[in-house]
Amino acid sequence: MNHNPSTTEYHQPLTLSGLQELIDKMYSQKDEARGIDGTFMWLMEEIGELAAALREGPSENLAKEFADVLAWLVTIANVANVDLEQAVMDKYGNGCPGCKKMICVCDSAEKP
Ligand SMILES: [Zn+2]
Repeated sequence: MNHNPSTTEYHQPLTLSGLQELIDKMYSQKDEARGIDGTFMWLMEEIGELAAALREGPSENLAKEFADVLAWLVTIANVANVDLEQAVMDKYGNGCPGCKKMICVCDSAEKP
């Protein structure tokens, strides 16, 4: 990740790379200490909270739970040294990984 100690705020629009840098800047020391296993446990806890919020229906809390899940996923990518924007572009940038179309035509029974 690129660090710029003089920059303390993030400028919109937020990109996936920008989010990854933002989370890295805020939490990298704690995240490195916690490691992938501990961070994965936090992601699973947040996914449980998102499930509960979805079950409750629309609320102020729902959007925050999505933000938490995304932030913890980004955190694990940071600890594992994965460039998420590159990974997403490599996998989905040229269409569905299954059928290679921009509008998926895979059979409904298949995963994509
Ligand atoms: Zn497809």
